[in-house]
Amino acid sequence: EKLAALIASRILDVPDFPKPGIVFKDLMPLFADGAAFTEVIDGIVAHHGRTGFDVVAGIEARGFVIAAAVAYAAGTGVIPVRKAGKLPRATLSATYALEYGEASIEVHADAFTAGQRVLVVDDVLATGGTAEATLGLIERAGGSIAGFSVLLELEFLNARQRLSNRQVHALLKV
Ligand code: 5GP
Repeated sequence: EKLAALIASRILDVPDFPKPGIVFKDLMPLFADGAAFTEVIDGIVAHHGRTGFDVVAGIEARGFVIAAAVAYAAGTGVIPVRKAGKLPRATLSATYALEYGEASIEVHADAFTAGQRVLVVDDVLATGGTAEATLGLIERAGGSIAGFSVLLELEFLNARQRLSNRQVHALLKV
């Protein structure tokens, strides 16, 4: 529909980034366009309902941009899910497999109150590894997943298989 077309028109394909053979989807043109960005953020809030979540969690780093805007639009706070070693206080962490090696993400151990409804946002859903780790981590930290929204889902990477027990809201699927 309209939002999908809008997002599609503001994505640039970058061949061989960050590695040869990978086509990176660059969403910076969407973020840079005020009218388009506003529509997309409002679309995420509308999908979940302004009162459908208590706080927004963003996945480092592009997820922070989306999370902050969604939180502001809904009048909630925002919680960062960060790469290992960035948060200053006691954290919980989750480790997940990459194509080569592994990565860890962290949240502050006291980031969520018990049962707090958390809307999780990121720019792109690719293999789903980051999302799977993040959603589980937030639950371990006491949050309840109210929703998970991404601007773009790369369907050929089959993240939904990996996230079978999760609802995923993707504004655009390619
Ligand atoms: P996954 O864990 O699903 O394989 O990768 C998703 C994470 O990597 C997200 O945090 C996303 O920001 C980043 N990512 C992976 N591929 C792309 C891409 O093509 N474009 C952008 N903008 N981010 C990507």
